[in-house]
Amino acid sequence: MDKKIIDGKLVSEKIRGQIKDHVDELKNQTSAVPGLAAVLVGEDGPSQIYVRNKRKACENVGIYSEEHKLPENTTENHLLSLINKLNNQENINGILIQLPLPDHIDETKILNSVNPDKDVDGFHPVNAGNLFEGKPSFIACTPHGIIKMLEHYDLEIEGKNAVVLGRSNIVGKPASMLLLQKNATVTICHSRTKNLESVLKEADIVVAAIGRANFVKSSMVKEGAVVIDVGINRLDSGKLVGDVDYENVISKCSMITPVPGGVGPMTITMLLWNTLESFKKSIA
Ligand code: NDP
Repeated sequence: MDKKIIDGKLVSEKIRGQIKDHVDELKNQTSAVPGLAAVLVGEDGPSQIYVRNKRKACENVGIYSEEHKLPENTTENHLLSLINKLNNQENINGILIQLPLPDHIDETKILNSVNPDKDVDGFHPVNAGNLFEGKPSFIACTPHGIIKMLEHYDLEIEGKNAVVLGRSNIVGKPASMLLLQKNATVTICHSRTKNLESVLKEADIVVAAIGRANFVKSSMVKEGAVVIDVGINRLDSGKLVGDVDYENVISKCSMITPVPGGVGPMTITMLLWNTLESFKKSIA
């Protein structure tokens, strides 16, 4: 493996091993295991795959999981009553609502109905607010995974210029907050940012999360930068690529995450992590 590659699979395997050991230990002590419920509405292809992968990942570390697959025409009220049931279900420590939801369902209303203590995705305003204030909370899995990878490779964050491309609630904003907590100087860029290229060129750490294939070119990256590519884009050829022009940027940066095999595996790993944390709190 190229020494420049931040290997999300490797870091993921290490952390999943730790999670499994911890789950086994707690099972011996309490006869119980953490539980995750995944709720999927409709037939979105990628979502079906994500949910299947999450189930397998749970199985591998000994976390109980259950799937609730609902038809596309499910009503908002029906979904709310299922979430209410899961909020009160003792063997469930984490609830995952697979996005996107069908258009007739109010996504915000649904995400806000999840008990913040079981919000292992970290999307509830209580958890997002706690992250904003620097208080302990469930941290959104993708940004959390990014920090874990940087830490695994001993890549310094403090004092660095970090530029986050994208300001979504699930990636860009929480990634910015976490980097800020780690004492980086953070700039957030988005579709209205002017002179994006010159801002990017100042970055010691780039986090690209915009969903635009190969957007970040070598000319936009500072020599020696650390590049984290969150994007998942499928080309017409069927090839999966990130938001970074990996082939050309790799020679300029010091470290880079590949797509696939970078941020992706870490996202599921941190979901398992949050589910274990939730279980630990419930038995404390
Ligand atoms: P969103 O679509 O919610 O947000 C995209 C952001 O990118 C917006 O803030 C938008 O700006 C900004 N943006 C779009 N085009 C440009 C541009 N040309 N220049 C600058 N900024 C731009 O995306 P997500 O945050 O949900 O996801 C981003 C990517 O990460 C996607 O490819 C997604 O598939 C992937 N992803 C990967 C995960 C993983 O586990 N690896 C997990 C989650 C997401 P504005 O706000 O102004 O519209």
